[in-house]
Parts: sequence; C-alpha cells; structure tokens
Amino acid sequence: MSPTVTLSLVIPVYNEEKHLVNSVKKIMEVIVTLACDFEVILIDDGSKDNTWKEINDLSKMFKEVVGIQLSRNFGKEAALCAGLDYISGEVCIIMDADLQHPPDIIPEMMRLWKEGYDIVDAVKINRGHESFAYKLSSKLFYILLNKFTGYELTGASDYKLLDSKAIDAWRQMRERITFFRGMAAWLGYKRSSVPFVVAARVDGVSKWSVPALFKLAKNAITAFSTIPLQFITTIGFIFLLGSLLLGTNTLYQKISGEAISGFTTVIILLLIIGSILMIALGIIGEYLAKIYEEVKMRPRYLVRESVTYRSKENNLNKQDKEYNYVKV
Ligand code: UDP
Ligand code: MG
Repeated sequence: MSPTVTLSLVIPVYNEEKHLVNSVKKIMEVIVTLACDFEVILIDDGSKDNTWKEINDLSKMFKEVVGIQLSRNFGKEAALCAGLDYISGEVCIIMDADLQHPPDIIPEMMRLWKEGYDIVDAVKINRGHESFAYKLSSKLFYILLNKFTGYELTGASDYKLLDSKAIDAWRQMRERITFFRGMAAWLGYKRSSVPFVVAARVDGVSKWSVPALFKLAKNAITAFSTIPLQFITTIGFIFLLGSLLLGTNTLYQKISGEAISGFTTVIILLLIIGSILMIALGIIGEYLAKIYEEVKMRPRYLVRESVTYRSKENNLNKQDKEYNYVKV
C-alpha cells in the first residue's frame, strides 16, 4: 500500500482523560511546524475513564486524528502493536501521551530521517522522578538484559522514529508477546539517536505497577535469551563435579572405616540441591509458558471501535482558529 501521509504518530493512551486534549494539541503544535502531511493515531488501551470521549472530541477537532479503542486493557506493548498496524505514513514516531516524551525533539528526529536514518532512538539522559528502588531495579534489569542478550538498552525508551522499511520489518515479527524496545533494537538498520530529558508527567501517576514491570522484565529476558536455560546445564555440571569429589571422599572414608556422621552436610546439600532444582523447574516453566502463549496464536489485541473524520472534511472544527491549519 502506498503511504497516504508522510508522518504517522502513534500514541498509546490509558486513563489520560484530564490532560489528553491539551497534550495532543501541544504535540500537534510542534508537528505543524514541519509542514508535512501527518496523522495522529491514538490507541485507547481500554481506559476506564473518559479518555475515549476525549479521543472522539479530538478526532472531531482535527481531521488528522484517528482513534482506535481496544476491547479492554491489553497493556502498552499491545497498544503500540495496534498503532503500528494502523499507520499509513512513510515514517512513524511512537511516543507517550503524558508529555514525558518531549515533542520538541521531533523536528530533530525528522531531520535525521531525511538525512537517511531508518530508526531514530530518543535516549533518556535522566530517569525523571522515580523512587530509589525503581531506579535500582531498572539498573539491575538493564545489566541482566545486557549480559543475557548483548543488547545495550540503558536509557532506551519507546520514543522512536521508524522508517517504513523498519515498520515493514517489524510487521514480520509475529510473536504475540512483544518487547518493543528490544525488538526495535533487534531490527538493526541505519540508526541514530537523540538525547532527551524525561519531563515530569503532566497529570496523574505512572500506569506501571511493580508486578507489570516485573512481567515486562521477564518477557524481555525470555524473549531475547535462552541463557537462563543454559545456566541450568552449567549449574548441573558444577554440581556433578562437586558430587564426584564428595562421593569419592565419602567412599574412601567408608572403606577406611573413618566414616563420620555427616548430618549437617547432608541437610545443607539437600537444601541447596532442592532450591536449585526448584529454580531450574521454574525457569523451564517460564519458557514453557511462553511457548504455550505463542502457540495459542491469539491476536495481540482486539479493536472495539475506531473513529476518524479524515475523509469527511466538513467535520473539521473550523471554530478552532488556532488549529485551523489543515488544507481543506
Ligand atoms: N499506557 C497504555 N496502557 C497501559 C499503561 C500505559 O497504553 O496499560 C500508556 C500511557 O497512557 C502512556 C504510556 O503508555 O501514554 C506510558 O505510560 P506511563 O506514563 O504510565 O509509563 P511510564 O512513563 O511511567 O513508563
Ligand atoms: Mg509516563
């Protein structure tokens, strides 16, 4: 399909009713300076507040706005997938709705794209207002991810520009459980990056809970690495070596009649081996669960409704002089 617009913006939205209209207007103020055709795809990820109504209002105000409502809350990753499936631009930019991804760097990202880069990563140079525990666990996650997968994603964010080549490649990755940041890194292509300072959230609090972040971390590691599985083999071999040494020693003591009561040793060994076996089974279980999720082949998300006034020019809100820049 040939592109119908130049730039597609993909913005996943979950319970952002209070500031959505203002935030989208702020983002669009930057986009209009680029003087190119664009569309803004807002994916309502099953919001429980009035977000969908706000998206409807926005689509009436601006013909560039396309609203897609998912049938329930599928999570940001699935919402991103939905957005990427719907875009029709030559290039797309994925960003958050809460203005933590500052729109002012979009012209720089577009400049790099025009220079010939296929993917432009916006890289965080600070981590915004996060608790010490959050910062520490995220550091640990990136260290583990780097050790297990070889990808250096420290500072990486979901704020990215993707050329249509990269989007086509992304669409070929058909796994159900996605980790956008990692998968975008896996794509390769000619890439550049733009640093940005994470702003404070315009309103509300982060939608990520600790269990949701833990799940994301687990998905990221299991999706990109089988090293945890290979670990089990390594630990098994280490224990085999230990058991050979200890076994020989025990037999020798038995034969020479020096066998002593080794109750403590037996208990400690039992505990160590028991826990390692449990962890090993758990790791295998994680991969098994992932295979199970993937083979079910369920869709990544379901769309309940979509809205756009793109082709109906009369629906453009002519009252809104400030934003009445659209060619009709
Ligand atoms: N979001 C989403 N579905 C969710 C959680 C979040 O679409 O289940 C959206 C949210 O509306 C925002 C973006 O994903 O546009 C980032 O979410 P948030 O600001 O809560 O995350 P953080 O900035 O703390 O990483
Ligand atoms: Mg945020």
